[in-house]
Parts: sequence; structure tokens; C-alpha cells
Amino acid sequence: MLERDFNAYVNAILSGNRVVLAQAITLAESQRREDITLAHQIISQLLPHTGKSVRIGITGVPGVGKSTFIDTFGTYLTRQSKKVAVLAVDPSSTKTKGSILGDKTRMENLAKNPHAFIRPTATGTALGGVADRTREAMLLCEAAGFDVIIVETVGVGQSETAVRSMVDFFLLLMLAGAGDELQGIKKGIMEMADALVITKADGENIKAATLARANYQHALHLVSVSDSGWKPKVLTSSALENTGVAETWKIITDYVQFVEASGYFQENRHLQNRNWLYESIQTQLLKTIEQSEKIRNNLERFEKEIASGLRLPSEAARQLINEVFQHSI
Ligand code: GDP
Repeated sequence: MLERDFNAYVNAILSGNRVVLAQAITLAESQRREDITLAHQIISQLLPHTGKSVRIGITGVPGVGKSTFIDTFGTYLTRQSKKVAVLAVDPSSTKTKGSILGDKTRMENLAKNPHAFIRPTATGTALGGVADRTREAMLLCEAAGFDVIIVETVGVGQSETAVRSMVDFFLLLMLAGAGDELQGIKKGIMEMADALVITKADGENIKAATLARANYQHALHLVSVSDSGWKPKVLTSSALENTGVAETWKIITDYVQFVEASGYFQENRHLQNRNWLYESIQTQLLKTIEQSEKIRNNLERFEKEIASGLRLPSEAARQLINEVFQHSI
């Protein structure tokens, strides 16, 4: 790696060059060791310029209106002189080639907006890897001057916890009239939310949305107060008619003020970084195991032996880790 390349990336990102920003994210997502090393050097150099955005996670089942809401919400934010980046975590794309979030027609207005940056799903082999890459992309966007980072994920159960663990504020989009089971929303996910937005509150749906709002607000009263001490809010919105959008932003800024005053904002970010470290140790250790054919073969053999009750899992893990150390020397 040339010193010049590295500095060129850093300087271009700091000056807000979106092409280079996108290239740096691609480097971070690469499977090649040299690319990852370069990406890590770039991000490390940029670290003092990160952390200044508001990080928002948005989830909800397919069809709830995520992309339409983010399009309207993001456009609203750019009109408030904010620069907005949208990143997606899509658990479906790690299992199949298909993607629930990846199609190009989503967020048409935002895609054309010079103050917005949309990055489709990170590629990776496991959700842990995808989450790591999204965190890195988030830091790169912050260094490039984005004030609001939206991390979008599909509410199908696997990725919400990962997204919750990398954002400051978690927004759950819900449909009025559909039962919770129908929406695939587990109670645990509702408990992670800092706000619930009932979508498509327009036309004949307004009444149902207003009723749903009251019901969810009541249900949330029964949920114990979260670590932040914040009481989750419920509101209705129509992305098509641009209602509830400014209100959503107001709730988010109220939240940020609340947790900055209590010290939770920084405390939570420190905790998130600490957890990121431990998760990375796990994912990188597993990756090292998978990369060595010999160790991988042993892993497969151990799995079979464990399944037939012939080997102790903790002993197998210790042996594999010993092999990793021998392998890397
Ligand atoms: P996603 O799968 O969660 O990203 O959902 P989409 O944003 O693609 O929206 C799914 C469908 O709901 C589309 O047909 C949208 O036009 C429609 N939709 C989204 N937002 C609204 C809204 O505010 N009002 C109404 N009436 N329809 C909406």
C-alpha cells in the first residue's frame, strides 16, 4: 500500500468526496486481506472526525413503508440543512442472493438529492460481518460530514438487535390494523424501540392509525423503562402526505437532548464500541478457523463427534483455538 493512496482516501473523504467515500466502503466490505487492512488504516486515521452524527435505526416488516418514510424523512432533514446517509442491513442477502432491501427504485427523491448518500446492503458471509461493515460505513460517512445516519433493516427478527447495538435511536414502523403477529414483530423488538411510528396515516386509514397509536402507547406504558430512562413515544405519519415527519425528528432531537444531559448518550456509545470489540474477536476468530482448511476440517469433524456424544464442546473449542495460534505463528 502506498502512503499516497492512504492519504488520498483520507483527504478526499474529509472533503466530502462521495465517490471516494463509496470506494472506501467497498474496501471495508472486501474479502481481500489487503483491502481490509487499507480500509482499517483509513478509518483509524479518520476516527477523530467521527461520532458527531445522530445514528438512527429504522425497522419494520416489508411493506410497512420504510423506504417511502425514509425518502420523505430524509428529504425533510436535508431541507433542515442536514446531510443524510442511509445504510441498509439486510439479513436476507446473507443467506440468498436475493435482497429485500436492495432494489434500486427505492427512495427516488433522496437518491437524487446532493445532500443525501444511499448505500445499499453490505455484503458479507454472516450477520456479524455485515454489522461490522455497516459500523465501519457509518464511521466513514461521519468523517465525510454526514449529520444523520439512518441504518435501515427489515423487521424479520434477525437483524434488529444488531442494528440496535450500533445506533443512538431505534425507530419501529408499524401498520395500523394488522395484529402484532401478522407484522412479525416480537415483543422484544417493541421493547427496543425509542419510538413507534404508525405508517400510512392518510385517507381512510387515519382513524385506524389514531386508534393504533392509542393502543400502542398504552401497551408501551406496561413495558418497563429502558436503560436510557426514556419513555418511548408513539406517533402517526403519512410519508405520502408528509405528516408526522417533522414530529418524528422533534422526538429524536428531544431524545438526544435527554440522553446527553443524563450522560447516557456517551455511556451507550462506549458500551457499543466495547461490544463491537468482543463481537469482532468472535467473528475474526471464526473467520480464521474457516480460512484454514486443516482447522476447518477439524471443526467439521468435531461437530460430528459432538453430535454423537463423543466429544466435549468446551474441549473441542480449546483445541481449535490452540490450532489457530499455531496456525498464525
Ligand atoms: P417497505 O417495504 O417497508 O420499504 O415499504 P415501501 O416504502 O416500499 O411501501 C410499501 C407500499 O406502501 C408502497 O406501495 C407504498 O406506496 C405504500 N406506502 C408507503 N408509505 C405510504 C403512506 O404514507 N401512505 C400510503 N397510503 N401508502 C404508503
